[in-house]
Amino acid sequence: MLLEKIGTLQENSEPLRFSEIDDPLPVENEILIRVSACGVCHTELDEIEGRTAPACLPIVLGHQVVGTIVALGKNARRFRLGERVGVAWIFAACGLCKFCKAGNENLCTEFKATGRDVNGGYAELMTAHQDFVYSLPEGFTDAEAAPLLCAGAIGYRSLRLSGIADGQNLGLTGFGASAHLVLKMVRHRYPRVKVFVFARSEREREFAKELGAVWAGDTTTASPQKLDAIIDTTPAWTPIVEALKNLEPGGRLIINAIRKEERDKDVLVGLSYPTHLWLEKEIKSVANVARADVSGFLRLAAEMRIKPEVEEYPLNDANRALLELKAAKIRGAKVLRM
Ligand SMILES: [Zn+2]
Ligand SMILES: [Zn+2]
Repeated sequence: MLLEKIGTLQENSEPLRFSEIDDPLPVENEILIRVSACGVCHTELDEIEGRTAPACLPIVLGHQVVGTIVALGKNARRFRLGERVGVAWIFAACGLCKFCKAGNENLCTEFKATGRDVNGGYAELMTAHQDFVYSLPEGFTDAEAAPLLCAGAIGYRSLRLSGIADGQNLGLTGFGASAHLVLKMVRHRYPRVKVFVFARSEREREFAKELGAVWAGDTTTASPQKLDAIIDTTPAWTPIVEALKNLEPGGRLIINAIRKEERDKDVLVGLSYPTHLWLEKEIKSVANVARADVSGFLRLAAEMRIKPEVEEYPLNDANRALLELKAAKIRGAKVLRM
């Protein structure tokens, strides 16, 4: 599925075109993967609509890729033919800067993103660098493993950065692929944490309660208790302002979004220092995931036997999956099957 030009989904509801392209060839330490499943992420909407535009066009999107190795570059020795592997957002990083050396390659200014700077997984074949490829634990179908690679891993990093401790109150504003995995992780790791979910749609709120949220309300509703940390996974600004109001003194808001949309940016004018920021409230963004987050989360997911809820779409239905994501018709994670 090729993206050929940038534009809003409103202008063009079919931004991706089902096409035939040459098979990629693995060189040096690259491997060739026959893709079986690829998760659909909100970042794809940011790429299509130009908020984080691809480095070149046309391009194959997709950065939650699961498949089998079918060929190896001449210096690729880390994996064997036939192994099941995954690829995540970071396709490559410089390896030399202070961020890379500290294991924060997600902060490297030279990093290349899968499906944005190089072709990704909305395709039958893709190449990847062996150092940025993950072995996948057993016990997950290919479709279940796909959302672990971005939605799950970034949820893991967000939860870590939130600084939440057992017994505290955690808020989740937005309840899509990532947040539903955070809720499952919290239930396992911090059984005494109470989770409060803010979501636009009734369907998402019901789903949150099914998974163990103690309370679920609309994005603009005040939570019945103050929250020690809130993780935001929405594309908008209103939930940020509302979340700050619900924080305890000293509480932390974690913003897990590569870009925010412009639609409701004017609400920031209503930011009140005493209501929203005073009393040592903190705001921190999450910049996707380092390799350690992906590996750490995959281990945890296997240990917890986490089961992501997935909705599957055939590859050539990617446009429909993206439109439904944009319209917040979500239950768990959307995954394309090749
Ligand atoms: Zn993603
Ligand atoms: Zn670097």
